[in-house]
Amino acid sequence: MVTKNNNDYKIIPIKCLADNYCYIIELKGTKDVILFDASQSTPIKDKLQAGAYNLAHLVLTHHHHDHLGAIDDLLAQHPKLTGYGHWELSKHIEVSKFSQFKQYNNNRDQVAHIGDLSFSLLYLPGHASSSIGFLLDNHLFIGDVVFKAGCGGIFGGISSYKEMWQSINSINSLPADTLLYPGHDLSLDNLKFAQAIEPNNEFIKSEIARPSCVTPTNIALERKINPFFKTAKPEFQAKVRAFLKANNHHAELLEITNSPPEKLSFITFLIIRKLKSRWKC
Ligand SMILES: [Zn+2]
Repeated sequence: MVTKNNNDYKIIPIKCLADNYCYIIELKGTKDVILFDASQSTPIKDKLQAGAYNLAHLVLTHHHHDHLGAIDDLLAQHPKLTGYGHWELSKHIEVSKFSQFKQYNNNRDQVAHIGDLSFSLLYLPGHASSSIGFLLDNHLFIGDVVFKAGCGGIFGGISSYKEMWQSINSINSLPADTLLYPGHDLSLDNLKFAQAIEPNNEFIKSEIARPSCVTPTNIALERKINPFFKTAKPEFQAKVRAFLKANNHHAELLEITNSPPEKLSFITFLIIRKLKSRWKC
């Protein structure tokens, strides 16, 4: 379900910790703001203070600790804070500390009403079983599912890889002008891995040469530079085979060569996601 908002709003990124991003949504006509993720108190509090904002809503994209660390400090200053996120967050944080905590499940067609805004929810498991994408018009707050030129790590078995592959496919099916707001900036490392597979890709080259403002990215760009968006394309699969051959990844090359055509996209995803975790630029 896609909702359309008439309200004006502004999205402000906040850099936290080593490479995290949180985001504030400023709403027109009120000082109440929405915060996406609570990675680190000081930069978030500084931004709230600089804008004389009142933190009214905290949205959590998933349960990993580097997105939750500022919750207690923020609740101490903003005791009326309402929280939002997947129900599994209640296994990791005390949701009863919030004045309200609105919990969502894995269903399609859920809508979150936050402040005066309506967000369509996309359940996006793979990196975490609690990952939800929050879509506001063409702005998708995506947590650690997709980063610029890459995707989040996978900590489970083969079913988690399959879930992540499906999650990325569903993001890739959104309109090309959808803006993606990731939870981390790992761009340079991601781009260099993408370049190792596609050394002649001019889009990757120019992104590597650009100054480092990486958020938001967008689906049109990711279709050009992000290897995890391309695994269904035969010309990209051929580049992966050439990369595996050149780097002596014989077992992976054999796995791809022996894959039935209907499984090639997923097997390509599985192989490059595993190689990315071991890869050093
Ligand atoms: Zn995470």
